Formats: sequence, structure tokens, C-alpha cells
Amino acid sequence: MTQRRVTVLGATGSVGSSTVDVLAGDPESFAVVAVTAQTNAAKLAEIAKRLKAKRAVVGDPSAYEDLRAALEGTGIEAAAGASALDEAAAMPTDVVLSAIVGAAGLKPTAAAVRAGHDVALANKECLVCAGEAFMDLARRHDANILPTDSEHNAIFQLIDGTDAADIGSYTLTASGGPFRTWDAEAIASATPEQALKHPTWSMGAKISIDSATLMNKGLELIEAHHLFGIAPDRLRVLVHPQSLVHAMVTFLDGSIHAELGAADMRRPIAHCLYWPRRSRTPIKSLDLSAAPSLSFEQPDPERFPALRLAQEALRRGQGAATVLNGANEVAVAAFLGHRVPFGSIARIVEETLMAADREGLLQVPASVEAALVLDGEARRLAVDVLERQ
Ligand code: NAD
Ligand code: MG
Repeated sequence: MTQRRVTVLGATGSVGSSTVDVLAGDPESFAVVAVTAQTNAAKLAEIAKRLKAKRAVVGDPSAYEDLRAALEGTGIEAAAGASALDEAAAMPTDVVLSAIVGAAGLKPTAAAVRAGHDVALANKECLVCAGEAFMDLARRHDANILPTDSEHNAIFQLIDGTDAADIGSYTLTASGGPFRTWDAEAIASATPEQALKHPTWSMGAKISIDSATLMNKGLELIEAHHLFGIAPDRLRVLVHPQSLVHAMVTFLDGSIHAELGAADMRRPIAHCLYWPRRSRTPIKSLDLSAAPSLSFEQPDPERFPALRLAQEALRRGQGAATVLNGANEVAVAAFLGHRVPFGSIARIVEETLMAADREGLLQVPASVEAALVLDGEARRLAVDVLERQ
């Protein structure tokens, strides 16, 4: 059997670690080409050795010496810097798993697409930032984008073999985050420690905060719109605290198909890495007789305004989505740094969108590069807004 060649961008993170697990569990099926991280040279070197990668790359040049020293005598190449990340993404491979956090993942992921590689996409910010320009790039370079975010992976599985014209609506589920049952006042003053305690998933810091504000679900609506070409009015969100149903598709005749599985990212990751086949994985399949009962409720737009902001941005168009994403990254970093309260995150995003509108910036970026320029403008405006908080 020929091995599938895999590159992992953001290998030291939460999705990265789940990916490393899947790859290390089946060395006969996979040959690892390159692995990357931003700063953690020691952890990256461990991963590169465990997976017998050809190359390991750190984005931060100051981490190069540690990486080189840790890989001495192993035959694994070490490299550093932003352009080295892009080069690693473009190395000959079959699939690139994109698990960098934030719009920082856009350039290397676009480099993988330009090289014609299939991309298993966990990094949603890349799609929210560049939208149609990113999907166009993939079409032009004949690169399949395999949805790895759990809800999108569920839709990817659910629509396999169906005709989109037969589908009425698509529902993404949300756990509701750690503040699902909190009142507005308590939410407004929640601390980073409280916001990082996700009830069902174990994830990186940024997405954990996005899950607490429900911005994550908003970003995911925009992601679903681009991945599958779903019109905004056909996209729904339901809060489902058990996180066992990941998405649902409602057909015109009223039948609802749902995808269920344990809240474990190794499942969608394995689905993308083995695609279009399936394989056994070490993940226990869900025992429904032991599962809690499944419940569903509408999200509350009053207590979770970030979701509404993302829905408005989706309707408004790509410029608004790009600005929403950049402003959110600035606001979340400020919250994690204890510089603004939780309640300010959505306010900073909203005020940044209004400022960008006043400056006439909410135009559709025509290319990935234009999206990155607008992302930079959004960050500049968000910092101004933040300083006035
Ligand atoms: P994380 O913070 O745990 O890991 C991020 C990875 O990106 C690390 O390897 C880090 O070294 C690298 N990185 C950070 N900044 C970088 C930069 N500027 N340049 C290059 N590399 C950089 O994040 P995560 O939770 O694994 O999430 C990764 C992406 O996957 C996010 O877009 C997130 O929304 C998405 N996602 C995550 C989960 C999850 O369960 N964690 C689920 C679905 C989707
Ligand atoms: Mg998700």
C-alpha cells in the first residue's frame, strides 16, 4: 500500500497534537513531510522525531538555534522564519493539515493551495479572513479543501452523495460554552480562567474564548458558507450542551440527518487524513446507551452578541467578515492579557466594524493578499478602539 504524505502546520497546538496522535498511530499509512510551530522548538523537535518528518520549521527565527540543536544528528532538516513556513507548506506532499491559529495561518495555507495540495482545514480564521478569494485559489489550483472543523466535517459527511437542491437547511451545533447558563452581568466580568474552562472540548486558548463568546459559532457560519456555498439564510445554529451531535442537514421533505460522535478532534482529523476511505482509529465510538440525553435550545443573542455580529457580517459581505475576524483576534488577545473585560470583546468587534465602515473599508478583498491588507487595517482600528475602552 502506498503511504499518504502529510504535512502538519501548527503541529504543537491542540489540533496539531490530535493530528500527531492519528499519524503516530498508523505509521504504515502515513509518511510525514514537514511539521511546523511558532515558537516551541523543543516540542516541535519531539514531534518531528516521533513522526520521522523530513523537515521541522519554527515561525519565530529566535527559536531556530534550539530547534537545530534538538535535531542535530537526526537527519531532520531545521528551518525558521515566515517564508520557511510557506516553503514547508509547499513541499511535495499529498495533504497539508492546517492547524495554525488565526489569520496567521492564511499565508502558509495559501502556499499549500498554490502548490496544488489538498488541505485538511482546521484553521477557520483563514476562510473567514479571505473567504471567496481563498476558495477561488483552491479551485484554480485544483486543491481539495477537506473540512476538519468538527461541525463542517460533519456536514461534509452528511452531504456526501446528496444533491444540494434537496436540502432545506444546515444546522451547526454549539456547546454553548462555559457561560451558557450565566446571567449577562456575570458574563460581562468573567475572567480568562473561567472563560478557558470549556465544558466539552479541550482546545487552544483563542478558540476556547471564541466558544465562550459564541463568536466561534459565528466564524463557523461564515466558514460553512464558503466551504459548501450555503446561502446565509439556510444556515442555523442550535445550542447542544452535550456536543455529541455536530451538525444536521434538514431535507426538503422534513427528514433530518445528524452526525454523532465523541467530542474528540481525532475523529474529523482521521476522516480527512484517510479520505475518501475510512479506517479504524483508537477513538472509542459513542455508546449511546451510556450517553446523557441529548438536548437542544436556541442561542441567546442578548447574552452572546458576538454571534449576531458574525451573522450580520456574513450578510453584509466579505469585507465585514475580514474586519470582524481581525478585530476579534485583537480583542481576544487583549482579554487573555487581562487588558479588557470579557464583555468588551464583542463591543470592540462591533465598534471596529463601525469604524471600518466609516472609513469605507468594507469592500470585498479581491485576493488573499488584499484580505491580509484589510486584516491589518482591521487590527489597527481595533487597537484604537481598545485604547478608548
Ligand atoms: P493552538 O493555539 O492550540 O495551536 C496553534 C498552533 O499554531 C501551534 O502549533 C502554534 O505554534 C501555531 N502558531 C501560533 N501562532 C502562529 C503564527 N503566528 N505563525 C505560525 N504558527 C503559529 O490552537 P488550536 O486550538 O489547535 O486551533 C488551531 C486552529 O484550529 C484554529 O483556527 C481553531 O479555530 C481551529 N479549530 C480548533 C479546534 C480544537 O479543538 N482546538 C477545533 C476546531 C477547529
Ligand atoms: Mg468547530
